[in-house]
Amino acid sequence: MRLAILFLIPLLAAAQAPKKKSAAAGDDRSGYTDTPLIPGQTWKVHDAARPRPPKVMPGRPVVSIPPPADADVLFDGKDLSKWQLRSRKGETAPANWKVQDGYVEVVSPEGGRWNMVTKAGYGDCQLHIEWLVPKEDVGQGQAGGNSGVELMGRYEVQVMESFENLTYADGQAASLYGQWPPTVNASTPKGEWNAYDIFFTAPRFEGDKLVKPAYVTVVHNGVLVQNHREMTGPVAHRRAIPYVAHPAEEPLSLQDHGHPVRYRNIWIRRLKDGQ
Ligand code: MG
Repeated sequence: MRLAILFLIPLLAAAQAPKKKSAAAGDDRSGYTDTPLIPGQTWKVHDAARPRPPKVMPGRPVVSIPPPADADVLFDGKDLSKWQLRSRKGETAPANWKVQDGYVEVVSPEGGRWNMVTKAGYGDCQLHIEWLVPKEDVGQGQAGGNSGVELMGRYEVQVMESFENLTYADGQAASLYGQWPPTVNASTPKGEWNAYDIFFTAPRFEGDKLVKPAYVTVVHNGVLVQNHREMTGPVAHRRAIPYVAHPAEEPLSLQDHGHPVRYRNIWIRRLKDGQ
C-alpha cells in the first residue's frame, strides 16, 4: 500500500502541475544550456534562462540625423564606392548589392556568404547607421532579419527584428552578440527604420598582448541601451573567444546573414583615444 501511494504521488503531482506554456511564435530559445559562461558574468553564452530586456517604445518616426561636417559619409543612399564585398574566406568582390530609394539591401544571392565591408579601416569611432527589416520578412528567431554592424569586422552590434520576433536575450537587436543584451528593447515594428548611434573604443594591444579591451556604447532609436560596455573578445556563436591581436584600424562590416536587411544614412567620425 505504501509503495502504491509513493507511486501515485508523482502521478498526481504531474496531473496538477500547470501545463508548460508552449513557446510563443518565433521564440527561438532552444539549445543553449550547454554553452560556456560569458567571462565576468553569471550567464552562459546565449543563455536560454537570461531574461529579455523590457520594451521601451521609441519616439516615431525615428529621426534620421544627417552627417556632420567632419564625418566620413559611408553611404548617402546612392553610392557604394566606399564598400566592397568580402567572403568569410577573405575573397573580395565589388559591392554590387541592390541600391534603391536611398537604401542598400544587404543580402547576397548565396545568402550569408558575403559581408559588405568598408575599403578603409577604422579604430575608435562614432558611427551613425539606420536599418530596417522589410515587412515581408517572415523569418523567426535568429532568422528574423539577422544582420549586424561588425566594428572592426569582429565586434558585432546585432541587427535583428526584435519588435515581435523573440530570440535569446544576448542575440536580439542592439545586443553585443553573445555577450550583452541591451538594457531595454527600443525596437520599432518591422517595416520601420531603426537608428544606431554607436561609440566605439577599439581594444589596444602590445604585440600579442591585450592591454585594454574594446568598449561599446549604443543608442538605439534615441534610447541608451549599452553604456560603455566592455567586450570580452570578438563575438562568436555559442562560444566565448579571447581577443587576438589585430591592427589598430580595420574595416567596418555589415553582416550578410542571408536575410534582406536594408541600410541607409551611414556615416562615421574618427575619434582619437576614444574622444
Ligand atoms: Mg547578426
